[in-house]
Amino acid sequence: MNVQPAMSAAVAAQESPALEISGVGRSFHVGAGFLRKGKTLRAVDDVNLTVRRGEVLGIVGESGSGKTTLSRMMLGLMKPTDGSIRMDGQDIRTISRSDLSRKVQPIFQDPYSSLNPRKTIGQIISLPLETHGNGTPAERRAAVEQMMLQVGLPPRLIHSYPSQLSGGQRQRVAIARALMIRPEILICDEPTSALDVSVQAQILNLLKDLRETFNLTYIFITHDLGILEYIADRVAVMYMGRVVEEAPARQLMRNPRHPYAHALLGSMLTPDPTLDLPDLHLGRGFPDPLNPPTGCSFHPRCPKAMPECSNLAPKPLRNDNGMVECHLYREGNPQ
Ligand code: SF4
Repeated sequence: MNVQPAMSAAVAAQESPALEISGVGRSFHVGAGFLRKGKTLRAVDDVNLTVRRGEVLGIVGESGSGKTTLSRMMLGLMKPTDGSIRMDGQDIRTISRSDLSRKVQPIFQDPYSSLNPRKTIGQIISLPLETHGNGTPAERRAAVEQMMLQVGLPPRLIHSYPSQLSGGQRQRVAIARALMIRPEILICDEPTSALDVSVQAQILNLLKDLRETFNLTYIFITHDLGILEYIADRVAVMYMGRVVEEAPARQLMRNPRHPYAHALLGSMLTPDPTLDLPDLHLGRGFPDPLNPPTGCSFHPRCPKAMPECSNLAPKPLRNDNGMVECHLYREGNPQ
């Protein structure tokens, strides 16, 4: 039975990054109607990221920062209005939905809503094999049992329904289903935020182990920098659709440069698990994305704002280690 990944024929594909996001933007027109001009919401704006094979890239930001819109574009569920996303060197717009799903699979926040309540665990996990026409029923059943063991689910649960499982077990089912066709990339969108803290740690450990076993690349989306400290190699911080800082995870945790990254890190010290948003102690709330601030979009909340910040947008300053987009860091003056 062929449940192995389709081997990339081109050596070039093996040498290219797993994922290249170049100048990607996504706009929405909202509020337009009869005799009424709508407004443009820039959900993602000129994002540039390169993800190496086997790497864990964390993307962090508040709700509304654009991280979920970006992940939907990486999954091919939404088209960018600007720029391109390349997987194995190939623009994903030229990859069929079926082939793209072999390369990249999602893990969502709420496993319960992503699992069909009328299907058994065995049926749910084997669905990708059936969809792609892999194996006989007996081979699929054996592959499901093997995968259940790999994600820490007793095979006796194969005839159970999602409602009979705990939250952690349901997330293991979702992970097993995602891995059945051996994707190269997993896009994990807040995969542990609906779980108890002790179960969160188990799922993070599982994802770490599976990364080694299946040679996976992860895009890990969260509002919680603490999780990224544990699992990510690099972190991109998003604010109002833009990446404002990108750095190796350790460096970002020890020495965040952008004032927003600094505030996110501070919020880790006063976590409130009942809140979706971290308490950033930044005074005025998240700006209206339909009327974004002029200049640096963070300036109304920034404790280090300078006069020029309100009318001049900062340019990204890049080096070998990453990028920061803030007037405090300029060419010749990287603090
Ligand atoms: Fe703060 Fe100015 Fe930097 Fe924006 S550019 S983050 S307002 S210091």
